[in-house]
Amino acid sequence: MEPNYYILLGAPGAGKGTQAAMLVLALGIPHVASGDLFREHLSKGTELGLLAKQYMDEGKLVPDDVTVRMVLDRLAQPDCAKGAILDGFPRTIAQAQALERALSANGQRIKAALYIKVSTEELLRRLGGRYTCKNCGAVYHIVFDPPKQPGVCDKCGGPLYQRADDTPETAKKRLDVYFQQTAPLIEYYRQQGLLREIDGEQPIEAVHAALLKVIRGE
Ligand code: ADP
Ligand code: AMP
Repeated sequence: MEPNYYILLGAPGAGKGTQAAMLVLALGIPHVASGDLFREHLSKGTELGLLAKQYMDEGKLVPDDVTVRMVLDRLAQPDCAKGAILDGFPRTIAQAQALERALSANGQRIKAALYIKVSTEELLRRLGGRYTCKNCGAVYHIVFDPPKQPGVCDKCGGPLYQRADDTPETAKKRLDVYFQQTAPLIEYYRQQGLLREIDGEQPIEAVHAALLKVIRGE
C-alpha cells in the first residue's frame, strides 16, 4: 500500500504538535517534527544542534539544505515506511519542492496538506502559555490544556519547561517569519489541490475530529 504522508501546516502555536500526537494514535504512523529533531540534536550537543541553535534562538529558519537533509534522513527510517505526519516541515517553498522530489523518486506523493487556521491574537496567547516536556516533547498549556500536576508531564512524568523561543519577543519574530516564508505554502498546496483547511480555534478534541473527518474524506 502507498505510504500516507500528511503535512500539518499552520503558524507556530496553531496546534500542530498537539494534533500530531493525537493523529499518531489514530493513524498508526509516526510524528516527524523538524523542531523536535533540532531540539534533540541540541540536547545531545551535536554539530547540527549547535548550528540550529543560532537560528532558533532568534526565531529564524535554519537553512534549507541542512533542514531538508535532516528530515529526509528521518523519513528514510523503517518506522516511516507506511507514511508520516509532518509537523513544521516544509516551511519554505524550496523545502516543499525538495520533499516532492524525494518522494517522487520513490513513486510516492503527499496525501494532503492539512492547514490549521488560527488568528494571530490566539497564536500569541497559546505560545505565551505553552509548556513542553523536557523528556518526551509533549505539549501543554497553562490554561487551555493544563497537566494534571503542575510542572509534571502526564505522559512520562518528565519536567515541563517554557521554550526559550516562546518569549513574547521571539514568538512575534517567529510569526513574522511564518507570514513571510511559510504562509506562501498555503497557496502552493491549494494550487496542487492538496490543501484542506481546518478551523484551529475550536477546542483540541473538536480540531482532532475535524482533522480525522478530512483525512477520512467524509
Ligand atoms: P504548534 O506545534 O503548532 O506550534 P502546539 O501544538 O505546541 O502548536 O500548541 C501551542 C499551544 O497551544 C500549546 O500550549 C497547546 O497546549 C495549546 N493548544 C493547542 N491546540 C489548542 C486548542 N485547540 N485550543 C487551545 N489551546 C491549544
Ligand atoms: P518549531 O518547534 O516547529 O516551532 O520550530 C522551532 C524552530 O526550529 C524554528 O523557529 C526554526 O528555527 C527551527 N525549524 C524547525 N523546523 C524548521 C524548518 N522546516 N525549516 C527551518 N527551520 C526550522
